[in-house]
Amino acid sequence: MNPPPQFLDSGGDDRRDTLGNAAQVRRLPARLAAIGGGIPVARLLPSPTQRMIGAWCFLDHAGPAGFDPGGGMRVGPHPHIGLQTFTWMIEGEVLHRDSLGHVQPIRPGQVNLMTAGHGISHTEESVLGETRLHAAQLWIALPNAAANVAPAFDHYPDLPRWEKDGCRFTLLAGRSDGRIAPTKLYSPLLGVELHSVDGSHVTLETETGFEYGVLPLTGEVRIDGEVFVANELAAMGVRKGVLAFDLAPGTRALLLGGEPFDEPVVLWWNFVGRDRADVAVAMSDWQQRNDRFGRVANYDGPLLEAPALPWS
Ligand code: MN
Repeated sequence: MNPPPQFLDSGGDDRRDTLGNAAQVRRLPARLAAIGGGIPVARLLPSPTQRMIGAWCFLDHAGPAGFDPGGGMRVGPHPHIGLQTFTWMIEGEVLHRDSLGHVQPIRPGQVNLMTAGHGISHTEESVLGETRLHAAQLWIALPNAAANVAPAFDHYPDLPRWEKDGCRFTLLAGRSDGRIAPTKLYSPLLGVELHSVDGSHVTLETETGFEYGVLPLTGEVRIDGEVFVANELAAMGVRKGVLAFDLAPGTRALLLGGEPFDEPVVLWWNFVGRDRADVAVAMSDWQQRNDRFGRVANYDGPLLEAPALPWS
């Protein structure tokens, strides 16, 4: 998925409570956008008052949406640096192709994880005959030490799943309840999907030093006495002890966590740079079509053009 241009420079983030008190839950509204094919997208991160949750630096909720056969998502070749793209598919099927030669469909219950590192380009399109899309796409900022790793792509068809308190858990990233997700990470993170058909009271042990957020995808979640509906991100700050949630019947929600990411980064378009110069070089490399981002083979359509840099 390819977002409209988004610019956030380092700094200006009030997610930490400097007094060390238990953080209050905050309600972050979505900005609504559309990706190709008229599929509605709710964008939760970055937000003006919460750039990231751990290293999770971008969060889009696409759909649920229906479309005519032949429609749906169609995102042409575009580059990434300095991040991992993380796709969690709930409904529908999308084909990923990248400049390393990977051609990988992703289906419900699976994760695609693309590590851009120094540079990669890719495409994403709803497969022929598909008429549904419901997915979450996230980006993970790579820490400085890994910002320039060689690009890679990994497909995870099987993730740890369990049921507790009437809630189905799928571990997308990190560890929880004695399980460890296979997804390759470069910083301490958590990603869990919670799905309750009949309603649940759910508790989870925190990891020391982690901040957390919950996004209802469908239904509603009650946290600290406040109700959050679909596409409202509950930003919980750093928490100790046990996280507790009440899920209404039919609720599907994403729980994200991680150690607060303290390194400065610059997000622009599809890039997570260490600084503005880093982004400017990536822009120039994409515009010049040099070897840095390779080529996506067998995709029939134009490349995405980068928008002008937001600074002069
Ligand atoms: Mn992309």
